[in-house]
Amino acid sequence: MPMSIAVLPEQVISQIAAGEVVERPASAVKELLENALDAGAQHVHVEILGGGRRLIRISDDGEGILADEVELALTRHATSKLRTAEDLQRIQTLGFRGEALSSIAAVSQVSLVTRHRSEDIGTQIRVEGGVVVQQKPVGAPAGTVITVENLFYNTPARLKFLKSENTEKRHISNIITHYAMAYPQVRFVLSQEGREVFRSAGSGQLADVVVKVFGLNAFREMLEVRGEERIRETGGMVGVYGFVSQPQLHRKDRTRITLFVNGRAVQDSGLTYAVTQAYHTLIDKGRHPYAVLLLDIPNYFVDVNVHPTKAEVRFQNTNVIFAAVQRTVREAVIGYQQAATHSRYGALQKSQEGWSSPYDRQMDFDFDIAEEQTAEAQPPPHDPTSIPDGPGRPDKPRTLPLLRVIGQVGAAYIVAEGPAGMYLIDQHLAHTRILYEELLALREQQGRLPHRELRSQTVDLSPQDTRLVETHLDALVNLGFVLEAFGAQTFMIRAVPAVLTSGDPTDTLWAMIDTLRENGSKPLLEMLAARAAIKSGQVLSPDDMRGLIRKLERCPNPLESPDGSATLIHMSAEHLAREFGRKA
Ligand code: ADP
Ligand code: MG
Repeated sequence: MPMSIAVLPEQVISQIAAGEVVERPASAVKELLENALDAGAQHVHVEILGGGRRLIRISDDGEGILADEVELALTRHATSKLRTAEDLQRIQTLGFRGEALSSIAAVSQVSLVTRHRSEDIGTQIRVEGGVVVQQKPVGAPAGTVITVENLFYNTPARLKFLKSENTEKRHISNIITHYAMAYPQVRFVLSQEGREVFRSAGSGQLADVVVKVFGLNAFREMLEVRGEERIRETGGMVGVYGFVSQPQLHRKDRTRITLFVNGRAVQDSGLTYAVTQAYHTLIDKGRHPYAVLLLDIPNYFVDVNVHPTKAEVRFQNTNVIFAAVQRTVREAVIGYQQAATHSRYGALQKSQEGWSSPYDRQMDFDFDIAEEQTAEAQPPPHDPTSIPDGPGRPDKPRTLPLLRVIGQVGAAYIVAEGPAGMYLIDQHLAHTRILYEELLALREQQGRLPHRELRSQTVDLSPQDTRLVETHLDALVNLGFVLEAFGAQTFMIRAVPAVLTSGDPTDTLWAMIDTLRENGSKPLLEMLAARAAIKSGQVLSPDDMRGLIRKLERCPNPLESPDGSATLIHMSAEHLAREFGRKA
């Protein structure tokens, strides 16, 4: 039977609206964090229990809320940040819709303690399902502590669609780290399930936060970007500032591209595309760089009021912004690329300071081509197939003819010439083969590959992945991982294989877990070699190329990478002659 029409009670309206703003615990965290930042907080402490479902507590030392406005702050469309529609054009704050607090309060149990910095006494208020159940004056430091418990307890439909606790935890961590990068001057602390998992220094230096978020190793492979462009039509400047990866550091998805517009983290596929485009021809199609870019755009040029969660923005002229981003990033990357061409691979790899591993010495490229040629000219009489490989090294038989390096094509292939014609060598696949055999030999010799200690990082795994890691722990340890169980589904990464001089350790572990899940422990060594190898897109100096070829020439199986792909293409002198219509 149809019901007659009636205006909904305010509480029901709030619950419906709440779904738009707070669709999940992570979005509640985002809104509350924005409020703290809008209040001018210098320290923001975030505590999470049960992936945000059980408890979200955000404490800030911002300006606080005036006692007689506390209740108002929790009502719908109440905001101190906007008065007129025109104000929307010049929004300086992260919030402005006045929806977040009321929406969150409508679907949870909220307790708020706040004291405005101009007042002596604070206020405590408790709201359950949108209804104020208690309000009283309390003593409190200036600032605000908001505690949200049992989110969605009164909206069972929403509860049903929530993602797993781990997914939510990851999202929440992402939000905090994103804001920490957008506000390097603010100190953020995040604790999940009673454990501190992230802390930024609040030093004001973006670099400090980027190191915390991506790890020192990834940071070493990043470049600072700084550019400013005039908007020709309307005047005003677009500023682009941040860090992007050198072309050799990239990954298969876009998740390491983080963009901020006027202090607001935005998801904008067009802008993300502009960043990837800046690496055109420098990294493979389908791969994406790392980037943390803070865009400074005149307010009139940006519409932030596109979406309730404010994750999307619209620009008055999209092309102007895209072009500025792409040009700034491209310039930095090309500049780096040119500088790198003049340095040796050894410098590119940036040896790790502060620790030393026997591995470093053993894995060094052999750059000394002159020495080898002399040896080649006078092979030891007892064994014509084996020549000395430098002083103190065991002899290794040659498996390829002596090749002369001519150059590099597309930052991916090495062109070489030998007695039988031309060779085109895939630098990544060839280096993977070399490392694979060196690692294999080393593991046979020492039982376990050398590791490199890290400042510990934790990873949270699903129950299935936890079991997988536990089952194959020995295999991982033999590769050089040092993992420590830290709670039921969390591991602390204390060390990674020493051969990995770059890349995010958590990523590496995830890649290993993916391999374990799909193919078991057998291909792990192969995977490790591939991850540690020179990437395609990396410019190599002539010395680097010669070093690589010298090693390939002595691999027991130089023609294939461990996964069976060809490492080189050979074009015989006859073939070349035929191609040019010359009779051989
Ligand atoms: P909005 O942020 O869009 O204004 P909210 O519902 O998130 O809307 O917050 C309502 C109001 O409550 C804000 O305008 C602000 O005045 C006040 N407020 C909320 N959180 C805080 C906080 N942590 N510190 C100071 N004031 C706050
Ligand atoms: Mg807000």
